Amino acid sequence: MRIAICPGSFDPITNGHLEIIRRASKLFDKVIVVVMSNYYKKTGAFAPDERVELIKRVTADIPGIEVEAHYGLLADYAAEKNASAIVKGLRAVSDFDTEFQQALANKKLNSEVETVFLTASGENMYLSSSMVKQICEFGGDISEFVPAEIRDDIEKRLRKD
Ligand code: ADP
Repeated sequence: MRIAICPGSFDPITNGHLEIIRRASKLFDKVIVVVMSNYYKKTGAFAPDERVELIKRVTADIPGIEVEAHYGLLADYAAEKNASAIVKGLRAVSDFDTEFQQALANKKLNSEVETVFLTASGENMYLSSSMVKQICEFGGDISEFVPAEIRDDIEKRLRKD
């Protein structure tokens, strides 16, 4: 069985993340979406368990998906889960440097795991969780950027009414 891991901060999950997860699920038998503690800044908009719950809700229709939080090294987590790949989305040149560095570090720490990059779609390549949070905070419409099932949760948390 081919297992992939999709790691990230997912604070909160956006349509950009979801697209990468859906595409990964077509390439692998099982995809584990993991909310990584070493990725998020000290104070996130959502706690790790809340992020997990939001991801579970929007990925419920995708076969072979698991979602959990992890507090440690991704390379160790991949070994523990018998994963053959770490799947990441690449938005623009700006993502490349850090992603390349992380991929090399993970390869050193766990030579069994490959990092696989999927290019963002043209529609989502500008999209990030921080952009969604900023737009929402100032009352903008986020309906095009996040799945409908979680829009209310994000607005309730971030809107300053
Ligand atoms: P961010 O906080 O920048 O939105 P994360 O750290 O949660 O992103 O990202 C997890 C993974 O999802 C990374 O591989 C990132 O490049 C990818 N990703 C994030 N947003 C998008 C997007 N709009 N399109 C494609 N991939 C994305």
